[in-house]
Amino acid sequence: MVRVLLVEDDESIAEPLADGLRRYGITTDRVTTGAEALSAPLGDFVLLDLGLPDIDGIDVCRRLRQVSDVPIIMLTARGDETDRVLGLEIGADDYLPKPFSTRELVARMRAVGRRTRAAVREVAVPENRLGPLTIDERTRQARLAGAPLALTPKEYHLLTLLAADPGAVVDRRRILETVWEPNFFGRGKTLDFHVATLRRKLGDPRWIENRRGVGFRLVVPTDGGYGPPAGRTG
Ligand code: CA
Repeated sequence: MVRVLLVEDDESIAEPLADGLRRYGITTDRVTTGAEALSAPLGDFVLLDLGLPDIDGIDVCRRLRQVSDVPIIMLTARGDETDRVLGLEIGADDYLPKPFSTRELVARMRAVGRRTRAAVREVAVPENRLGPLTIDERTRQARLAGAPLALTPKEYHLLTLLAADPGAVVDRRRILETVWEPNFFGRGKTLDFHVATLRRKLGDPRWIENRRGVGFRLVVPTDGGYGPPAGRTG
């Protein structure tokens, strides 16, 4: 299990980033200030925002480098190239300008990991296994008991979101905002429709539990959910 220390004061960046990394099997410990970063466990990786409320990110980077060789990737919103150059000079391993996708970040982490410590190579294993269900983020293919599921992009995205934290209820609002977009028009019925088609493709409605009025959660059926009984179609 790969652990990262995310140093980021902006909640709207940190929260979806931690969710996204979880889908790659990466655990995020988050702090919001430079002072906290300097006393926190560093994990396998440090993702460092440069614009922090207390200490400048460049200084945080310099001080971390004095005590550790942990790979550091700077997350920078600044257009100023000198910060990036300075950061790399004082020992950051790479930088990523905001906005970026989780996929881009993980690709950078893999590249940095190849150059640095072997433990980080675990990042290269993006397959999520839940009983007989496997989700391969690399190929964007979900399989049930080895058989590929023919999912639409929305169904796939919905499944990966629920599968990122199995057993946890995901709010309807969060699903709509993540899989569709903020202020998605049409909302509830569309979500229920996609849940229904996804359940049908999973062959067992118990995979996706509806917490009425709250949201949905992914549950591995107790008998494994190995598809529909013989003779049933759909
Ligand atoms: Ca910031």
